[in-house]
Amino acid sequence: MEETDLKESINLVKKYNKMTPKERDQIKRQRFYAMVTFARKHNPLYAKLYENLGVNFFMRDVPYVERDFLLSNKDIWQSDEVIPSFIPQAINTVRSFTFASDYRRFLLHGSRYVIISSSDGALQQAAWPKSTTVLSVFLPIEEMTKQLNELRPAFLWAYPSTLEKLLEQKRLGRLSIKPILIIAGGEALTDELRASLIDAFEGTVQATYSSAEFGLVASECQMGHLHVNDDWIILEQADEKGKPCAEGEKPQKILITNMYKTDYPVIRMTLPDNIRFHDKACPCGNTSPWISITSAKDDTILFKTGSDTSIEIHTDEFSDILKDIPGLNGYQIVLYANNNISLRMDVEDKEARGIIFLQAEQTLRRFLKEKGVTASAITMDADTPLRNEQNGKLKNILDCRP
Ligand SMILES: [Zn+2]
Repeated sequence: MEETDLKESINLVKKYNKMTPKERDQIKRQRFYAMVTFARKHNPLYAKLYENLGVNFFMRDVPYVERDFLLSNKDIWQSDEVIPSFIPQAINTVRSFTFASDYRRFLLHGSRYVIISSSDGALQQAAWPKSTTVLSVFLPIEEMTKQLNELRPAFLWAYPSTLEKLLEQKRLGRLSIKPILIIAGGEALTDELRASLIDAFEGTVQATYSSAEFGLVASECQMGHLHVNDDWIILEQADEKGKPCAEGEKPQKILITNMYKTDYPVIRMTLPDNIRFHDKACPCGNTSPWISITSAKDDTILFKTGSDTSIEIHTDEFSDILKDIPGLNGYQIVLYANNNISLRMDVEDKEARGIIFLQAEQTLRRFLKEKGVTASAITMDADTPLRNEQNGKLKNILDCRP
């Protein structure tokens, strides 16, 4: 990224931070209005959705849209025109700098920024600085390690599941990089992985809440709080009909608007995650609101335990029981009809695959039995864990039940 982009972005962030709440509201309203106006003109899906929306409207009047609906209508969700927006992209980087220290360190380290992400650009307007190298998350780990050793990033962005793999390479002495900042995004970062990364790479680790669909929503401050990038992202707590919640009312939906993403616009879209909003000021001095993500709805799996009884099991519970199995570096449970399970395993020692599977199988069976769930069969899958082909994320549980 050119230095001028960075300087401009830093100034914009500083300017926003100094604004009064009223000024901030005003700028957000303008950006929201501009986004809706763009979408109804250049996006077939929103043009239809906003058919009955007048020219003058409040945010609450704009119909909300279900995320699943957008994802299943990608052909009409794509805009016929895209406005490149390098400023918010650079700003996203600046948000990281404000945490890691200042951008001079980045420049001193040769501005090397590496993102390991899905190579599928369909849903992804590049939210990265211009000179960033993007490596595909689908690269074999040996190749990824080799390229990283050559690139020597000062900043590294990756999914926690990728960082876990890289941690292993670092421990084995194959990976020699020493980034000053590791940014984890796209999936939940556990305390355990964070501690191991800090220990192995001796750098700062920052969690973010982001996705290729809706961009960078929030970045962590030094207090460990996720501050919303509320100059370009709006999060709303809404009722069942998508109207703003009254004071004290429990939200039924969380809606997100991204005000710079024009290729696949995200306007008042339902979010899949459970988000808690905090109204206490954060001691770090950042006055943008902060949130915590309690658990993603995607992360609980519903099992039938009887003809009219069922139980919800959080995916973390599976990780908890399988993480201690010696030799099992990673896993993916594929759920089929009648709770038949096919287990994909990532093991270093191929010879020990059978033994490791037996241990995993027994552990799983015992765990499910305790929960009252009957798994008809648990079999070993020939595949290793597979990432989602579109977004590159790795899910530990794939629900393929009818
Ligand atoms: Zn803070």
